Amino acid sequence: MGNQFHVAIIGGGLAGAALANALAHIPQVDVYVFESAPTFSERGAAVGLTKNAQLALSQILSSSADVVAKAGGMPMNSSRVILVRNIPYTQVSSGPEAGTIVFDLAADDHEMIVHRASLLRELLAPLPKEALHPNKKLTAINPNESGFEINFQDGIVYYTVREHILRGIVADEQHYASPAGFWDCRNVVPFEKAKSILGEKYFDCVVSGIEEDPSTSRDRKRPLTQDTLRDSLSSWLGGPIADGMISLICDQPGPHKYSQWEHKSTSTHVRGRVCLMGDAAHATTPWQGSGVGLAIEDAIVLGTLFANISSLSEINAAFEAYDLLRRPRCQRVIDSSRETGQILCGRVDLHANELRGLLAPRWNFIFELDMESHKREALDKLRDIQQKS
Ligand SMILES: Cc1cc2nc3c(=O)[nH]c(=O)nc-3n(C[C@H](O)[C@H](O)[C@H](O)COP(=O)(O)OP(=O)(O)OC[C@H]3O[C@@H](n4cnc5c(N)ncnc54)[C@H](O)[C@@H]3O)c2cc1C
Repeated sequence: MGNQFHVAIIGGGLAGAALANALAHIPQVDVYVFESAPTFSERGAAVGLTKNAQLALSQILSSSADVVAKAGGMPMNSSRVILVRNIPYTQVSSGPEAGTIVFDLAADDHEMIVHRASLLRELLAPLPKEALHPNKKLTAINPNESGFEINFQDGIVYYTVREHILRGIVADEQHYASPAGFWDCRNVVPFEKAKSILGEKYFDCVVSGIEEDPSTSRDRKRPLTQDTLRDSLSSWLGGPIADGMISLICDQPGPHKYSQWEHKSTSTHVRGRVCLMGDAAHATTPWQGSGVGLAIEDAIVLGTLFANISSLSEINAAFEAYDLLRRPRCQRVIDSSRETGQILCGRVDLHANELRGLLAPRWNFIFELDMESHKREALDKLRDIQQKS
């Protein structure tokens, strides 16, 4: 096929769809997206697009603001951290600082909030229909003389690409995500109902907690009862929001709590002509709302590298450059997100002002990525690798 690259993207979630868009306009690339589910779809409710995620999206799609608007995206006008008790680990439910706003992330970030399924629909819309292949669950990647062949069937196999890349290179525990030490439970409730229960000021409907012994949370999804919630939030009861939150979280059939898992460390995201991106590469806890942003950044860097190579033999170097550039940033976000979760869950004993100083700057390194210099760095790394080989 001359210098035409055939790129198979395994998984048509937000990461796969972003990557397909980043590659679709490169003349020497043919893209195929293989999704195990019978249709391309997203579970769950909304996803927040941070400033860097929106900037990154605008590098993939010229009309990214239109795409987000078409998906029903709205500015997130408030994302506040509020003290509901004074002193962590005590039974204090009120006091001089209870109700104090520590900071409002949305005030500076101009985050957009968008329904996941709608965003995926809009990311898939510009792609040629013949590039999209649902009902294709990857089960094996086998090297052959022209590169490798990929096999699909209906077996229950997850993260095969991750296993393919890490098999034999690292200890087995790096193959999989593992508990980060938190659980959460979400519910979507009518706005008016939330308002009537929580009052005019508080609206979000997520409760999270620390898993004291994450090793017991091999089962990611466990039933959540009102009693468990009252027990977990015992020191908040009678405060400004705890009772209302318990009522709203339990206002769903069979509420469950989900253990938050993450990739603690990964030695490489690349093996030959196969590479990982998105959550398969760097699953992170949601505390800094950055999973999608990282995936879009991955897509841009891969798109930039593919646009600057012209032969199959250069793919290995391009993936190596991608790995060198992206893995440290993504791991930093994973670690920072876990630490942020510990602060937000009251693991540090600080007053509002101290908390503000500790929390507010934690997002800076995520938001302030200069994508133009990040892309230049990717190409510099590619040239270095090519010169050395
Ligand atoms: C509770 C929660 C809240 C979050 N909030 C935010 C937020 O506000 N902002 C943010 O940026 N991020 C957030 N995230 C993270 C974000 O949702 C993820 O980072 C992002 O959705 C990952 O996209 P992905 O395409 O990499 O993975 P996925 O969405 O998991 O997609 C992978 C796709 O691959 C398919 N697949 C799997 N195995 C195979 C196979 N063998 N063969 C073929 N296909 C396969 C799956 O069916 C799926 O469609 C949150 C995550 C959670 C859990």
